[in-house]
Amino acid sequence: MSYIGNIIGGVKTLLTGMKVTGHYFFPSVIGRKYTITRQYPDEPAIVMDRFKGEVVMWHNDNNEHRCTGCQACEIACPNGSIEIIWDRVLNEETGKKVKVIDQHIYHLGMCTMCNLCIQACPTNAIMWSTNFHNSTYDRSQLTKVLNKPGSKLMAGVEE
Ligand code: SF4
Ligand code: SF4
Repeated sequence: MSYIGNIIGGVKTLLTGMKVTGHYFFPSVIGRKYTITRQYPDEPAIVMDRFKGEVVMWHNDNNEHRCTGCQACEIACPNGSIEIIWDRVLNEETGKKVKVIDQHIYHLGMCTMCNLCIQACPTNAIMWSTNFHNSTYDRSQLTKVLNKPGSKLMAGVEE
């Protein structure tokens, strides 16, 4: 290619790149109705239904959960983000001791959102939340207890 041809080719390439930039810089001029970038937190962020923000434990209206304390999630977690503190208590109906959770501890600051804990749970006790408002100046706030105070195991859910 000639010297002049090289220059023309270079200018064409430059303009092609500038066209893409212009699409986002002047959306109203070229007919786009909105920009994808949001100035969060001044503007509300777009929340996707499938976004995996943090692991949470589902509770029903009676403050019951489905966690039996089996520890499958704790074992499945590759980086120790989950700790189950449990005990055995006497079931007065059956006269047998059963396992109950005291605290299901989740270290959000260590979680890589790999999904292994949720896949491992045999009772579907834990799931993803779309919450992402987790920035904090205090790292200890990223350690959460997933079972709510006073909650108990839902009847009919077996270990
Ligand atoms: S999503 Fe992965 S890293 Fe996070 S708690 Fe579950 S198993 Fe651990
Ligand atoms: S959340 Fe699921 S896997 Fe983890 S201890 Fe509870 S029942 Fe077991």
